[in-house]
Amino acid sequence: MTTFRVGGTADVLADVRSVDELRRVLSVAGQAGVTVTLLGGGSNVLVSDAGVRGIVVRLRLMDLSQSSPTVVRAGAGVTMNGLVRWTIGRGLSALEAWAGTPGTVGGAICGNAHYGGRNIGDLVTRVSLMAPSGVVMELGADDMSFAYDTSRLQRTREVLLWAEFGVGSGVPDALRAVARASLAHRKRTQPLDVPSAGCVFQNPDPARDVVPHGIPPSAGALVDRAGLKGHRVGGAMISTAHANFIVNDGRASAADVHALIETARAEVRARFGVELRNEVVTIGEF
Ligand SMILES: Cc1cc2nc3c(=O)[nH]c(=O)nc-3n(C[C@H](O)[C@H](O)[C@H](O)COP(=O)(O)OP(=O)(O)OC[C@H]3O[C@@H](n4cnc5c(N)ncnc54)[C@H](O)[C@@H]3O)c2cc1C
Repeated sequence: MTTFRVGGTADVLADVRSVDELRRVLSVAGQAGVTVTLLGGGSNVLVSDAGVRGIVVRLRLMDLSQSSPTVVRAGAGVTMNGLVRWTIGRGLSALEAWAGTPGTVGGAICGNAHYGGRNIGDLVTRVSLMAPSGVVMELGADDMSFAYDTSRLQRTREVLLWAEFGVGSGVPDALRAVARASLAHRKRTQPLDVPSAGCVFQNPDPARDVVPHGIPPSAGALVDRAGLKGHRVGGAMISTAHANFIVNDGRASAADVHALIETARAEVRARFGVELRNEVVTIGEF
């Protein structure tokens, strides 16, 4: 259930198909004192080999609609690629460059996914969230605390139910060309034929991190300059195509991936004095 293809099982897996079902799951979990973990497309997570205690919820809220000429609403379970295809087919512009982003609207909003220097939060106009208490609220994007790789959802444990995106109008063929260019760029620069979770580390924060002169301020460049491309722990390897990707050769355990992440972090710290922070979300005990 994750793109890394590692990790153990959940105690309970709940495929949730409506807002009412989600409220019931949260209520039962609250009464039983059991943890609830949201899983979208599983493309940005590292699940421990021991698995996940409590309930893992996959939200199957798949509605897609156009709320006005300039706004599209997508349920949290809609895949980003599905949303891109849907908008392009209707001649709606804004999302076409996001073609090829794995995962769901829920995961993209939670981590404020980024591509080509833009954050998905920049396109969001409104969201609906469910608090752990079951209360549903609607918020504007300004209340989402969007920042690089960050949203309020990581802090509040609220669940995204849907998001609205601002769109313009475009010619489907032209939008399709932009989407194809994004897909081609990913194919050229990312190891897409092997399991991974995309970029493992966040890029350094110019406000906090001092990257030595002559090294581009990206996590991939730091891992690369530390000489770690191709470095392995068990079945996990730092990709030779993209140093910020760890790939699974089919035999990796979550412990292998985790050990390799810590090796890369320690090596970059020792060589360049930069503390890399995880972009990938770890779930379970490590
Ligand atoms: C090949 C590859 C390329 C990638 N390229 C990019 C890229 O260009 N840019 C980028 O930013 N990322 C990229 N990623 C990482 C990943 O695709 C994104 O982070 C994606 O947005 C994660 O979505 P998901 O649905 O898979 O979330 P998951 O991995 O399932 O979950 C991620 C987090 O979101 C939370 N979450 C999920 N749904 C909800 C919800 N409804 N409400 C609240 N919280 C929720 C989860 O609890 C978890 O904490 C890439 C990954 C791969 C494998």
